[in-house]
Formats: sequence, structure tokens, C-alpha cells
Amino acid sequence: MSNCAIVGINWGDEGKGRMVDLLTENYDIVVRYQGGGNAGHTVVNEFGKFALHLLPSGIFRKGVVNVLGNGVALDAQNLLEEIKTVTDKGVSISPDNLMISDRASLLLPWHRDLDSLEEARLADKKYGSTKQGIAPFYSDKYQKKTVLAGELFYKTELMKHLADLCEWKNLILTRVYGAQPVTMDELIAWVEDYGEKIKPYICDTSKYLHNAQKDGKSILFEAQLGALRDLDFGIYPYTTSSNAIASYAPVGSGLPGARIDEVIGVVKAYSTCVGEGPFTCEMFGEEADALREAGFEYGAKTGRPRRVGPIDIVATRYGVRMQAATDIALTKLDVLSYLEKIPVCTHYLLDGKQTDDFPFPAALDSAKPVIEYLDGWNCDISGVRRWEDLPKAAQKYVEFIEKEIGCPITYVSVGPEREAYIKR
Ligand code: GDP
Repeated sequence: MSNCAIVGINWGDEGKGRMVDLLTENYDIVVRYQGGGNAGHTVVNEFGKFALHLLPSGIFRKGVVNVLGNGVALDAQNLLEEIKTVTDKGVSISPDNLMISDRASLLLPWHRDLDSLEEARLADKKYGSTKQGIAPFYSDKYQKKTVLAGELFYKTELMKHLADLCEWKNLILTRVYGAQPVTMDELIAWVEDYGEKIKPYICDTSKYLHNAQKDGKSILFEAQLGALRDLDFGIYPYTTSSNAIASYAPVGSGLPGARIDEVIGVVKAYSTCVGEGPFTCEMFGEEADALREAGFEYGAKTGRPRRVGPIDIVATRYGVRMQAATDIALTKLDVLSYLEKIPVCTHYLLDGKQTDDFPFPAALDSAKPVIEYLDGWNCDISGVRRWEDLPKAAQKYVEFIEKEIGCPITYVSVGPEREAYIKR
């Protein structure tokens, strides 16, 4: 029995879903422990191509139990749509392979409304929210003003709780934002439409996981978003509103004492970032367009073009440290095949001085990248499956990154398909 967390080292979109889909073969249970429907994990397998927002990426494997832990933002509407999309492609989903924590909080209709209202208020100072209601949701959770999924089984108490929350929320909607109030009828309809339909999946997942561990079952913890978007350690305030780092996995899963034996940090062979905020290594113009096109860098959830840049050693080393990664999966190496010379951001310049330390968020705006170039390999590597078959220049690129970030690169991914990878 061993547990593993698969986490992002950078700004998200590193290819975590693809790695979870690949590695679930070795695990009995996959748990999503934070975040909501605001990100997309792309998975390509025998059922087709999917952008999973809430469903754990182990959902495609027969015999694997998938759990949405207490730490997630449980968007029932989103989840039900996703279940339909996936089952329409022939994947079976039932309470046997999907369980929702009774302690997960429900993302309610006003969370999405408030997200949009706040982004509109911020106008040109916006944070680049995906408008899925995540920030208002987590703010409410920490104010103890959310409804737990398990409350759906206690109708009388639920209605009273919702009425109290509705009264409070309407003060904010109407007085702060001048928006329409929410009615109890709307909330009751929401419970009927969505709450009732997720009820079969809701149970005491903490107890289930505890017993599974006792029975020697292995667990894979799946993160959403990367270390640089972590609420406490990321590029605050351009972070997400929950903790994406591996050490939060036991808490957000409902297994506070879980030992994580292996932390696989996913790093893209170059950098991408969606939304606002400092992105020191950002490239612009034709160079950026070429990389964006080569990697097809458009958001899985929003379709927004991603900002792109060379791999950022300073940020990646920091991400490895905050995740306490034991291994790295380097993805999308194939995308760099078109380059004669490959740029790498090796250091930052801060106040005219070279630094290897990832700066405090407020200092990031003035940081400048120091770029070095490594040799490209200029041939298609997407069919390569053995390390020794990779061109020497590609091996050198991987080894250079490995040495600089101080963590073994165990997997090298050369295509989006499940089997397109090299194990070292
Ligand atoms: P996640 O949120 O971390 O799972 O990442 P995303 O799904 O947002 O973005 C990763 C994208 O890269 C998806 O479109 C994947 O299909 C694709 N992808 C993952 N690994 C590779 C790879 O090694 N090569 C190529 N060409 N594409 C990959």
C-alpha cells in the first residue's frame, strides 16, 4: 500500500489530468481534494477526449473508486453535466465508483452570480476569474455560511439553513451590488433539480477512506491547479481560493492522517499561464504565437488563449519545494521540437541583481527573466517511448532541468495520449 499525490508545480495546466489518467492503473482510489469546476483536466483515452472539471480523472478506470473530498467546491450543476458527458461516451458512473463527501460544501447559484458581479465591479483591475463562483464559495465556507452536501438528507434543517443564508446573501446582492435578490422558491427549485440528483453519491467518504486504508488500499490524490496558484504560497492575490499543494491533500480528502509516499509534480516543458497576474518569463509577439500554436495553448474551461513563455527554472524550483515533490513528470516535450534553440529562464533580475529565489508576490512585477538557450532537436519525438531513443539534445534539455530544479524527472510525456510517455 502506498499513496501518491499528483500535483501541479507551476500555474496550472501542466497536464495533471493526463498523468492521473495514466497512473490510476496502479491505485484503488482517486480523490480530488480541492477546487471546483474552475479548471479543466484534459484526458485522452480509449473513450475519447475529455476536459474534466470536477470528476476525478480515475473515473475511466474499471474498479477505481473516485472520491470528491470535503475540500472541493461541490458544483452539483456542473458535476451532473459532466457525468452526462462522460456516461454518454460509454463510461459507467454509479455510487460504486463515484462518492461525494457529505462534508463537501455546496456551491450555490449565488456564488456564480457574485463572481460575475465582482469581476464586473473590478472592471480593468479584475483578477481573471473563470466566474465559476469559486472565490465567493470559499469565502463563504470560511465564514461558515455554506451548506454541506450531507444536509440534503435533512430537509427541515436544510430549508431553515437556506432561508437564513438567503436573507444574509440578499443583503449583499441588493445593497452591495444592486442586483436582484434570490428567492426561496429559486433555491427550492435548485435543490430539486440538482441537489436531489447528487444525493445517491453522497456518503461519509472520510470513513470509507479510513477503512480502505486499513484494508491496504492505495490512494491517489489529484490536485487542481499548480503550486503558484496555491492560496497561501502562490502569486497572491492572483491565486485560486483554496490550497492546491500536496500537503493539503489529506485534509481536503477527509483523511487527515494520511501519509503521502510519493508526490509527483507535473511540469510542462515550457511555461503557460491563464488569466491575470505576474508572469515573469512571458514571451510576446510571433515567438509567443508560434509556441501557443505548437502547444495548442487555449484554456480547457474557458477557451482563453494562454500566456506562454520558456520554462521558468526559478518558479519551478520554488514549486518543487512547496509541493515537496519526490518525482517530476515533464509534459509536452514534443511541443518544443520545432525550435532550433530553446529558451530557458534560468534566473531573475531583481533590482539589478541576479536571484534564484522566487520573489515575494508584490516584488514579482519588477522581476525580469534571464534567458539562456539550449540546443533544440528539430525532429518529431512524439513516437518515442524509450529514453535512449530520444535525441541527445532532448535528453540534455531534460537533464538540464532536472539538475536545476533538484528533483528527478521520472516521466517524460511526448503526446496527449495515455501511452505517449517515457518512463526513466
Ligand atoms: P491539467 O489541468 O494540468 O490536467 O492540464 P490541461 O488539461 O489544462 O492542459 C494540458 C494539455 O496538454 C491538454 O490539452 C493535454 O491533452 C495536453 N497534453 C498533456 N500532455 C501532453 C504531451 O506530452 N504532449 C502534448 N502535445 N500534449 C499534451
